[in-house]
Amino acid sequence: MPRRSPPSGPSIEVLRLGHRPGRDPRLTTHLALAARALGAERLWLHPPDPAIADRLEAVARRWGGRFSVEGCVDWRGMIRRFDGVVVHLTMYGRPLPALLPKLRRARRLLAVVGGAKVPADVYRLAHLNVAVGPQPHSEVAGLALLLYALHGLPGPERWAGAQQRIVPSARGKRVRRAR
Ligand code: SAM
Repeated sequence: MPRRSPPSGPSIEVLRLGHRPGRDPRLTTHLALAARALGAERLWLHPPDPAIADRLEAVARRWGGRFSVEGCVDWRGMIRRFDGVVVHLTMYGRPLPALLPKLRRARRLLAVVGGAKVPADVYRLAHLNVAVGPQPHSEVAGLALLLYALHGLPGPERWAGAQQRIVPSARGKRVRRAR
């Protein structure tokens, strides 16, 4: 069974720089949840944080899919070796709408997002510096809008291996268990 209707755009991995293990687990967890729910395949965390990886594994056990969180030590090497388009999300970049046609044609994307401050060389190492609007907001918002622009929203179908899925309802919470 497919994880979901195959997205028509590129496959997307995310590299999160400036994570602070033990200090901002909620923000990075939300980044991971948004990445997973909106169609990314993997989140690389620099520095690595097994606690976030475990949390997302527990989510995937219940809700399915093949998303994983992995540690990344040498993030510069990862960017240099990535065999696709490296897109750094920053408010200082070129506007997303102007670059969307190019991004849609890519086979693989690595979306790089920062924390409080990103190392200056990211701007040079990335193939594209892309602004999701020219105002400061957050890595979760920037990534979510990029994924939405490229893949749209996932439908209500059950993801591979899911123990349960939501049945959309006007009121209340309906969940169908896998048989
Ligand atoms: N001064 C930072 C900067 O260079 O964008 C803002 C830091 S912000 C708290 C953390 C991350 O959110 C940034 O590294 C960037 O990846 C993302 N972000 C914030 N605003 C954005 C925007 N307008 N467009 C794209 N990404 C954005």
